[in-house]
Amino acid sequence: MSDKFRVRFAPSPTGFLHIGSLRSALYNELFAQHHGGTFILRIEDTDRARFVQGGIENICNSLKACGVIPREGVWLDEKGAIIERGEYGPYIQSQRIERHKAYAKKLVDTDKAYYCFCSELRLEELRKEQQLAGRPTLYDGKCRALTPAEAEKRIANSEPHVIRLKLPKQGTISAWDVIRDEIKFDWALIDDAVVIKTDGYPTYHLAATCDDHDMEISHVIRGEEWISSLPKHVFIYEAFGWTPPKFAHLPLLLNADHSKLSKRQNDVAVADYLNKGYLPSALLNFVALLGWNPTGDREIYTHEELTQMFDLAKVNKSGAVFNLEKLNWLNERYIKSMTAENYLTIVSPLVQDKTDDHSFADRCLLLVRDRVTLPGDVVALTQNLFKDKLDYSKASLTWKTQPKVQARERLQAVRELLEGVTDADFVQSGARATFETDIKQLIANKGWGNGDTLWPLRVALSGEEKSPNPFELLETLGKRRSLDRIAAAFQALAD
Ligand code: GLU
Repeated sequence: MSDKFRVRFAPSPTGFLHIGSLRSALYNELFAQHHGGTFILRIEDTDRARFVQGGIENICNSLKACGVIPREGVWLDEKGAIIERGEYGPYIQSQRIERHKAYAKKLVDTDKAYYCFCSELRLEELRKEQQLAGRPTLYDGKCRALTPAEAEKRIANSEPHVIRLKLPKQGTISAWDVIRDEIKFDWALIDDAVVIKTDGYPTYHLAATCDDHDMEISHVIRGEEWISSLPKHVFIYEAFGWTPPKFAHLPLLLNADHSKLSKRQNDVAVADYLNKGYLPSALLNFVALLGWNPTGDREIYTHEELTQMFDLAKVNKSGAVFNLEKLNWLNERYIKSMTAENYLTIVSPLVQDKTDDHSFADRCLLLVRDRVTLPGDVVALTQNLFKDKLDYSKASLTWKTQPKVQARERLQAVRELLEGVTDADFVQSGARATFETDIKQLIANKGWGNGDTLWPLRVALSGEEKSPNPFELLETLGKRRSLDRIAAAFQALAD
């Protein structure tokens, strides 16, 4: 092997990139980067019936958005056209079928595979019979006994046929998995898998195995659902006398009730999460922890830290629960910890039609940042801040059983204090602390209570019974808006 660590992510373009597939891609990439190896993207598109137009582009774009970048294989150029990079191409499997056919022929020639002429109808009847009898549904081997001459004759007669592996019918086979150690399979339960279909196309088993060999893949890292394919793959490696790569099967993704994660693509497509506003870094962090935690006592990791700490052997065997609350929590954490500039770049366009005053808009957006799960939340959270006229009930302006006249008195005193603050001082950074000191001082001097002063003030400014504190609101709204709102509340309390 030219290079010790060569791994591939080999999706089929049959839909949009799924969260589980992103995890497979990421673990391959982390493994390659950790060991200074190569991460390859190969497209397995030999199932023509399930091919989805735009599927390859979606895979590449979703990976790119999350920063999981292959060094070799299929990719998109700056214009979005599909290109291939590397010396082991083609990396689009359907362009390799002549090689697959030649490999299949070799398997037949060495008696490791055979031509099968059984019709779909016969196979269907066989399946039904076996189901009725409560037996496993396996091909019964009718064509295993055909001599090469008989088979050649039927092929020459253009009889439709497939090629099947001639698997042992008894005994067991052991395979090694980096995560699960030894896995044993009983040959009696394994079907003579088809490797070339009637349309001449190879199946996954043959194509993936031969391509992994030809591309000098050192480790096959893929989802648990592929474990059942392992004995067939090991058989193919042995049939050719090839050394198999090391295998690692990643744990299943589960719903909260521990059922297998929903297959409905729209619930689990990476692009949908990105479109909803989940940050790529949060999504990547979340996906990385589906089945592995580098330290066990932290939840937030950068891509670089994940790369440094990645250890395939430490990946869990048991299923990983897909917990949307955790993803939301991570997204909130990432939103809180990004620079103000980056945060504003993401959320400003969402409120650009609300005001022409950009610095006011920025202050509003920063005020609500702690309560944002998804960027789109800022629209509702800032709604009242941008309104010219608030719409609240008069009763909400008074604290508990406070008389209206008392609330007016408090607002009037605060108004007088605020009138003495300049426009610039009102909104300068740190103004909230000054407001807090001065207003609390006023309250103390008057011998009032915090609640009976700050409650009416806060509702007057926010229009909400639950909101940021009045000091932050003052700094955010600025002098004119704050005084207008206090005046409106003062008026409302008089009516
Ligand atoms: N084409 C398979 C898929 O869609 C690849 C499985 C493998 O990695 O071997 O997931």
